[in-house]
Amino acid sequence: MSIHNAPGSPTLFDFDNSYARQLDGFYRRCLPETAPKPQLIRLNRQLAKELRADADQLASPQGVAVLAGNLLPAGADPLAQAYAGHQFGGFSPRLGDGRALLLGEVIDRHGKRRDIAFKGSGRTPFSRSGDGKCALGPALREYIVGEAMAALGIPTTRALAVVATGDMVRRERALPGALLTRVAASHVRVGTFEFFAAHHGPEKVRQLADYVIERHDPQLAGTERPYLGLLEAVTERQAELVARWLGVGFIHGVMNTDNMTLSGETIDYGPCAFMEAYNPGTVFSSIDRHGRYAYDQQADIAQWNLARLAECLLPLIDPDEEQAMRLAVAEIEAFPERHARHWLAVMRDKLGLDAEGDAAVDRALASDFLELLQQQQADFTNAFRALFDAANGSDAAIKQLLGQNPRYTEWQARWLNRLAQRSPAQLAIMQRANPCYIARNHLVENALEAAVDRGDLAPFERLLGVLAEPFDERPADALYAEPAPAEVTAAYQTFCGT
Ligand code: AMP
Ligand code: MG
Repeated sequence: MSIHNAPGSPTLFDFDNSYARQLDGFYRRCLPETAPKPQLIRLNRQLAKELRADADQLASPQGVAVLAGNLLPAGADPLAQAYAGHQFGGFSPRLGDGRALLLGEVIDRHGKRRDIAFKGSGRTPFSRSGDGKCALGPALREYIVGEAMAALGIPTTRALAVVATGDMVRRERALPGALLTRVAASHVRVGTFEFFAAHHGPEKVRQLADYVIERHDPQLAGTERPYLGLLEAVTERQAELVARWLGVGFIHGVMNTDNMTLSGETIDYGPCAFMEAYNPGTVFSSIDRHGRYAYDQQADIAQWNLARLAECLLPLIDPDEEQAMRLAVAEIEAFPERHARHWLAVMRDKLGLDAEGDAAVDRALASDFLELLQQQQADFTNAFRALFDAANGSDAAIKQLLGQNPRYTEWQARWLNRLAQRSPAQLAIMQRANPCYIARNHLVENALEAAVDRGDLAPFERLLGVLAEPFDERPADALYAEPAPAEVTAAYQTFCGT
């Protein structure tokens, strides 16, 4: 008897599995592999609460057995989702969950449906030549960066737990294996649509689209053009998401269509990284040789990915092909404007400006500030935070960063002139738009190295604590706000090897 079928499965989650129920044929059922010696590395107690689960029960030996994939909780219906994807521009018709499994869904405390999924739970029908495993370092990396993004208020999948499996996984060297439990508004990707458009035709695409509408955009059901509406809703979410990324210097690193959600949550923290000194062409990913997914390319790539989604939806948008095409193209062409609107909103918040001013004036203020940052190679995060200090009356820090540039004084005068109209509430918004603490690459690497090479989780825990409250400056955490040494950043590369 497999341990999965052990009697008396614990009731850890109140599962209600709509994907399994409504989308027969869109997945393959599959069990997680067993972990020889599970050890709970981290449990997100707050998130457990949000999911209406008992954190103590999750941390108990039985709970850890569940989080290790050794014991199925009552009501779970584990499955691997089918999807395709454009990876670096080329179409891969069959990807799918090769190292992930959807355990099931719960309705959280806010009434929102959330997926609970494993990453690194072993081989599935979609694993191809992969082992289906995840190393501890990348699992912790996803935990840190995802939770940091959540604390910054950016839509993202969440990390519920990391369990070390006791297995070694073979990468360039043998590494300790781990299983990450990931929580998402859903795991439906642009690539999910591409899979069914490529292999099964419009009726399956319609079934998937209806599911997504019911789950994410129920107001569209029964409207005249629900599928065009869906395209518009996803476009709007992605236009905002990328603007929010840009606002914190986030570089996703691998914006393939299989890594773009319909929900508008950031997903798949592989080779992502935060920018240090401002340079719009920044790219860290070792496999992104041509800078396809560089910081300043992300909006264009999001639009390109949305065009792939639009192609899948075309037959549903209108029976008249030309009309469908006209409508879809108009939607995709509206992306830059949508994105620019969100970008301006993000930048206004960062600069402490209200929404009442002249858009062209504010856009110029933002772009000119970024140009100054680039000229001075100033740290993106710290420069904006210094600007917040300047709005509060102390401009020493910003002068230290940018004061050598003769154009700075002129810029500051323009900015202060515009800022004169500010309300007190604006300062609070400005603070929450300009974090002191981001998941800096050297900090993340240090935490992972300590955890993986020395079994020391203290730096990981400490970093998580700092990143959980990113907007309040704390003298005791000053080191966490310091940029990496320039030579570290210059040589820094991220890898997909999760
Ligand atoms: P990603 O780069 O993480 O977005 O993954 C791209 C595709 O490769 C997905 O279909 C994954 O399931 C698959 N994949 C990545 N790593 C593995 C692995 N170790 N074993 C099996 N499949 C994998
Ligand atoms: Mg992926």
